[in-house]
Amino acid sequence: MNNFGLDIWSNNNFIIENGQIRLNYKCMPSLLQIVEEIRAEDVRGPILLRFPHLIKAQIRTLYNYFDKAIQQNNYKGKFHAVFPLKVNQFPHAVEAVTSQGAQFNYGLEAGSKAELILAMSKTPIGANITVNGFKDKEMITLGFIAAQSGHNITITIEGLGELETIIEVAKECDLKVPNIGIRVRLHSTGSGIWAKSGGMDAKFGLTSTEIIEAITLLREADLLEYLSMIHFHIGSQMSDIAPLKKALREAGNIYAELKKMGATSLDNINIGGGLAVEYNQHAHLNSRNYSIDEFSSSVVFLLGEIMNAKNVSHPNIFTESGRFIVASHAVLITPVLELFTQDYQEKLLNFKTINPPLIEELVELNRLLNNTNCIEYLHDALDHMESMLTLFDLGYIDLQDRSNAEILVHNIIKRALYLKSANPTDELAQLQVKLQERYLINASIFQSLPDYWGLNQHFPVMPLHHLNSTPLRAASLWDITCDSDGEIGFNPDKPLYLHDVNLDEEEYFLGFFNVGAYQETLGMNHNLFTHPSEYTITIDENSYEVKNAVESKNILDILDSIGYDSAILHTKLKNDLSNSEFISEKEKSDTLAKLELFLKQNGYLRTTN
Ligand SMILES: *Cc1c(COP(=O)(O)O)cnc(C)c1O
Repeated sequence: MNNFGLDIWSNNNFIIENGQIRLNYKCMPSLLQIVEEIRAEDVRGPILLRFPHLIKAQIRTLYNYFDKAIQQNNYKGKFHAVFPLKVNQFPHAVEAVTSQGAQFNYGLEAGSKAELILAMSKTPIGANITVNGFKDKEMITLGFIAAQSGHNITITIEGLGELETIIEVAKECDLKVPNIGIRVRLHSTGSGIWAKSGGMDAKFGLTSTEIIEAITLLREADLLEYLSMIHFHIGSQMSDIAPLKKALREAGNIYAELKKMGATSLDNINIGGGLAVEYNQHAHLNSRNYSIDEFSSSVVFLLGEIMNAKNVSHPNIFTESGRFIVASHAVLITPVLELFTQDYQEKLLNFKTINPPLIEELVELNRLLNNTNCIEYLHDALDHMESMLTLFDLGYIDLQDRSNAEILVHNIIKRALYLKSANPTDELAQLQVKLQERYLINASIFQSLPDYWGLNQHFPVMPLHHLNSTPLRAASLWDITCDSDGEIGFNPDKPLYLHDVNLDEEEYFLGFFNVGAYQETLGMNHNLFTHPSEYTITIDENSYEVKNAVESKNILDILDSIGYDSAILHTKLKNDLSNSEFISEKEKSDTLAKLELFLKQNGYLRTTN
């Protein structure tokens, strides 16, 4: 049975039961059930579900493994984690991180002024705030304001200019001075498609010469006591652990050297983010070559070893894992609107009183096809199809005959695939790929899976139901933007097979998983499709609850958000219709009411689904 790689990517968060995918937690609701409840309120288009308990699970995993490694290695420093806001700044995602992380005193990381304001508003007093990225005097002053307001904040400098500004602000005002961190520029580099954050040519960090100069500047300004952290970040979605180990050795030795140079308040090493998430659904592809166990043990062991060798006390360890913490918490659900080759339905056959002999033979093949003869009959059918096409090109048969032949042959191939689905021959497997079905999904890839569009990042995808039966259609997925990049093509190296459903009779929903990191703010309003309607789902032993509904923006609001005055547009549309001629007043007012309704709905399609 095809489980869509659930055992590879889902981390036991989901299970298949009675043909449906369910949360593997407490009362175990099925995703379909949740989606149907939301859609009963007339919500249409894609739906983003957030599961805060999955954030809690990740936070707990991170802490448990680091605590275990700390014990096993007799390590003396503590473990702390902050969540980098750039990974998901949406209110209900941040709220889930801070509420689920409260018992761990989880903090926030900011990389811009707006994120810093958010961190200052949302971090509980006592939890950590770290600040990275390029900063001007205003942003640095905000850091002083945060410290003065009681926050445990560390401003990490990316260059000497920023340190000079910190010294300047400290001289100019009496505000409390924040803790200061130094981002080190490593000679070792990261791995994976996002690995641009480390290395000699990196965008960020101080070279060893600059670090020495920074110590001198701090000492002269009498601020050395505020230097508390060494920071590095080697890039997101690390596929290989080797570069991290190199970076740890390098940063660990820098830390120890600085301690010896008199940086007595220095007591934290911040190893940034980069912990990878498994996005693949096929056993032969792996996103990473290490486990969280190996990751935490390596960090703790290496830092302990370096400090022991240099006789320096063990630093506290900070991580800024983002992707690892929130990727799994969000699932995008998209209704399927159409299967494009459903034009080959048997009910569309239209025979004549007298049909060409080859058609009659195809009818017989179709009628008599069974498990024993299906390969032979399939070959006959393919052969007949060739002949029919030649006859058509030569003008001997008409379009109706050709259509009948195509429907019959499609049907024979589909039934042969079904009969042999347990062990398809190579030939059948190839036919299956050729006979790809295109599934039109009510969503925008640009809005909801931008990393697929920009980086070809795969996200696990599977139907929410029908999971008792083997999916036989090689599938490519088309979104509803009018952009040919809005397609997830069938890839024989990581094939996706979906079910052959008749959408006139039933609905079919696909879930895209692990979409909780980066996709939401990176998503763009191409074709003016907006962030999907989102809901937070909390689950206990007996039931689940749908909370925090934020419906996808309506059409007038999206026009407002790019600078139109929607009131003017609205009035214009109403006046044009009101002033039009040749329809009754009744029809006019009915149509106006319709127009009002359309403008208040989101921009996704509403046809059947
Ligand atoms: C982006 C970023 C992170 C988060 O990386 P993940 O791969 O999402 O864990 C952490 N720290 C810094 C400095 C970053 O820029």
